[in-house]
Order: sequence, then C-alpha cells, then structure tokens
Amino acid sequence: MPYIYDDQNIFAKILRGEIPCNKVLETEHALAFSDIAPKAPHHVLVIPKGPYVCHDHFALDATDTEIVDFTRTIGRICAQLGVTPGADGAGYRLISNAGNDGVQEVPHLHVHILAGRNIGPMVMARD
Ligand code: 5GP
Repeated sequence: MPYIYDDQNIFAKILRGEIPCNKVLETEHALAFSDIAPKAPHHVLVIPKGPYVCHDHFALDATDTEIVDFTRTIGRICAQLGVTPGADGAGYRLISNAGNDGVQEVPHLHVHILAGRNIGPMVMARD
C-alpha cells in the first residue's frame, strides 16, 4: 500500500523553518527537538528529514544512510542527556506511535525519547 505523506503536517513545517523549535541536535538526515508539551523531565522528538509517515514506511523506503543516521542520532541524544542505563539506574523509553490504533497525532515519523524520571507502566491495560 502506498504511503500518503501530508507535507502540511506540523513537523514538515518545522523542517522548512516555518515554525520554530527548540533544537537539540541536527544531522544531515535527522532533526531532534524538545516536545512542546513534555511528558517527562526530558522529552525529545527525533524525526528524519525525509517525508516518511511512520516507522514501517521509513523502514521500507528510507535509504540505509538515512536509517543509520536516524538510529545513531537517537543514541547520541541519549548520551547527550546522560540517560544511558548504567550503575546509577538511569534509562529512558522510546515510543513511536503509528496510525489510528497507535494514536499518532502528527503524521511524520518521530521517536519520543522520554527520560529523567521513572516513566511508569508501558501501557494501561484494558479489556
Ligand atoms: P504523537 O502523538 O504523534 O506520537 O506525538 C506528537 C507529539 O508532538 C506530541 O507529544 C506533541 O506534544 C508534539 N507536538 C505537537 N505540535 C508540536 C509543535 O508545534 N512543536 C513541538 N515541539 N512539538 C509538538
């Protein structure tokens, strides 16, 4: 199934410089910035610069160079935030919501890095 990318989404506007962001890190193929409504002391969003809707789209259509850059950017930010798991018990959670059931608000691939406190249960159990 072809993925349909809406270039009017808010992250596309951030990439084009039409909307400001609090930049954390930028590489050739990725941009990381603070979430506007942080859910943890550290809440960073990492996005590829290419027009990918969600993670499966990126995994199928992105180049190896883009995928490596995106993945390493996430690792670099964890190191920059000082949340790499270690003897002090720090750590973080990565989340990438996709589609309706994943409750994705912005249709441009992004990974949330949440850290700075215990993030709690992964999901709320439901019937
Ligand atoms: P999703 O629900 O799609 O996984 O997450 C979208 C995230 O984007 C939310 O956590 C929301 O707070 C964040 N967000 C929405 N609009 C903006 C914006 O204009 N700037 C920034 N920095 N974050 C935004």
